[in-house]
Amino acid sequence: MVWLLGNPKDFDGWGATNPGWAWKDLSNYWEYIVSKWQTTHVENDVYMQRLLNVGTNQGFTENPDINNFTKYGPAGVSRRYFSGVLETPSFARRTSVWTQLVKPVISKENLDIYVYSRAHKIIFQGTKAVGVLIQDPISGRKTILRANKEVIIAGGVFDTPKLLMLSGVGPKKDLKKLGISVVADVPGVGKKSARPHFSFTFISPS
Ligand SMILES: Cc1cc2nc3c(=O)[nH]c(=O)nc-3n(C[C@H](O)[C@H](O)[C@H](O)COP(=O)(O)OP(=O)(O)OC[C@H]3O[C@@H](n4cnc5c(N)ncnc54)[C@H](O)[C@@H]3O)c2cc1C
Repeated sequence: MVWLLGNPKDFDGWGATNPGWAWKDLSNYWEYIVSKWQTTHVENDVYMQRLLNVGTNQGFTENPDINNFTKYGPAGVSRRYFSGVLETPSFARRTSVWTQLVKPVISKENLDIYVYSRAHKIIFQGTKAVGVLIQDPISGRKTILRANKEVIIAGGVFDTPKLLMLSGVGPKKDLKKLGISVVADVPGVGKKSARPHFSFTFISPS
């Protein structure tokens, strides 16, 4: 898997209205995650080095670290360079959040995992999220999980805005059309979530 950090400008945009979510607030977490993840630079490969030479011969800058935001501009904004990438090899298998981050801490007492359960609704008190309604698809049992501090939704690029909208957070006119009571009129929910991008992948023997 290619180890690619998010775009600092996105985080700073969110942090402008949501204290604690700017890039500077989160960089310690990124460093912690990177430190837990086994990574390797593919530039060390002879074929990759030849490919990078093609780029520099054509006048592109070579960026030795695709996640170096300060010198070459953040990934996703300034991509006019040729770069090798940081990879996360794990015995020729793609690594994942499960293998690298969850499995090692699965026995922690402050972690509960509800396998297969789906979140159906965020529970609000006024406009403050105080819990989540989940349902076990096998037994059909519904449970409300209450939050002591905050609720963080990480359902991916499509399901996160979907869950927000089902819970009443989103563009007012869309929610009204669907008969959903509006908790907060937030026009940006569900917009510009997915950014198309393309990349070339070269695989060479090591
Ligand atoms: C083919 C492909 C290759 C990629 N390769 C790379 C790569 O090499 N490097 C890289 O950095 N990025 C890569 N990406 C992008 C990367 O996978 C995503 O940016 C990343 O997974 C997003 O993480 P996330 O936790 O926000 O969401 P996701 O990884 O999408 O996780 C969301 C999770 O929430 C669960 N979920 C959704 N709705 C609910 C609900 N209502 N209740 C309960 N659970 C729910 C989903 O089942 C899922 O497990 C790739 C993406 C694709 C599609």
